[in-house]
Amino acid sequence: MTEKFTTEVYYDEDADGSHLDGKTVAVLGYGSQGHAHALNLHESGVDVVVGLREDSSSRAEAEEAGLEVATPDDAAAQADVVSILVPDTVQPAVFEAIEPELDEGDTVQFAHGFNIHYNQIEPPEYVDVTMVAPKSPGHLVRRNYERDQGTPGLIAVYQDVSGGAKEEALAYAKGIGCTRAGVIETSFKEEVETDLFGEQAVLCGGVTSLVKHGYETLVDAGYSPEMAYFECLNELKLIVDLMYEGGLGGMWDSVSDTAEYGGLTEGDEILDDHVRENMEETLERVQNGEFAREWIAENQAGRPSYTQLRAAEKDHEIEDVGARLRELFAWEESESESADEQERVNADD
Ligand code: NDP
Ligand code: MG
Repeated sequence: MTEKFTTEVYYDEDADGSHLDGKTVAVLGYGSQGHAHALNLHESGVDVVVGLREDSSSRAEAEEAGLEVATPDDAAAQADVVSILVPDTVQPAVFEAIEPELDEGDTVQFAHGFNIHYNQIEPPEYVDVTMVAPKSPGHLVRRNYERDQGTPGLIAVYQDVSGGAKEEALAYAKGIGCTRAGVIETSFKEEVETDLFGEQAVLCGGVTSLVKHGYETLVDAGYSPEMAYFECLNELKLIVDLMYEGGLGGMWDSVSDTAEYGGLTEGDEILDDHVRENMEETLERVQNGEFAREWIAENQAGRPSYTQLRAAEKDHEIEDVGARLRELFAWEESESESADEQERVNADD
């Protein structure tokens, strides 16, 4: 078992922003998390320098937003806190380039613990190593901050040379707006293992498999693909929204008695003990590093399986049916959500 989870939640009044006074934060990367951290910290009064490669497509955008931009190693040289917000797969190479710029007592900070936990980055023993991880995509971290709202987040300390690693991480979490909503402390190990397990077993892997199995069962039995799409994919959002708002109970209260009875009797028949055993195996592969080794090797080989799996998923019939239906129907969506989505799509171009 991993360490016990602390239930303490830190808010603005528990975080002292002065732990970043007189310090410069280098934010390496200006993508999803990078742009949000850099802008929020800057507007919170923290000295920020954004680290981007010479030919970076984000350089102009960061400069137009009023931020100072330097190369990653120049930014790290100026900084007391180096926040590594480039994609996880390129972090080891980026770290190697900036490592000579780290001084004693500096902090190396992450928003996800993969590279530290699986030893892809081994920081020198004279720096603090921390994590501040908003539990949300970067554009929401930014949007919430602009609306005087917060984004829940995690902090973790892996290496505390200065003796003030946790206080500094809390100050950073405050600077990006996380303590407005609440921050909990975890460990790198727990963050990584629960994150990987969650996305594989439930969120990304589990849910898409469940949807495809349901869709295929109906279509193979002769029902129309359109009906199968609505039942097994489209309506999932309504159910998830109810669970998000009121937990499982909130959802059960909102659906019909028939849906509740059938769901309660059949759910565990379908996702039976065998599924639970499979999940335990998935967790084991995360815990023993097997998944990490596989993913690292896959990247080193140029992502052959990943490319194939992606293509196969795109080819699934449910994707064609869905694309057609989404064009034919006017979908209910809150304006802010669609505007935000559009913003991201544009930013990603
Ligand atoms: P992004 O993919 O959005 O990062 C893109 C940025 O990284 C760009 O500015 C890009 O620069 C830069 N970059 C890419 N490759 C290189 C390279 N080889 N050298 C230098 N810079 C490079 O990353 P995310 O924000 O998604 O993820 C950052 C961290 O945050 C990760 O650890 C991730 O796990 C974590 N995280 C992400 C969340 C999310 O929702 N996205 C949520 C919570 C944590 P250029 O402009 O030059 O292309
Ligand atoms: Mg994740």
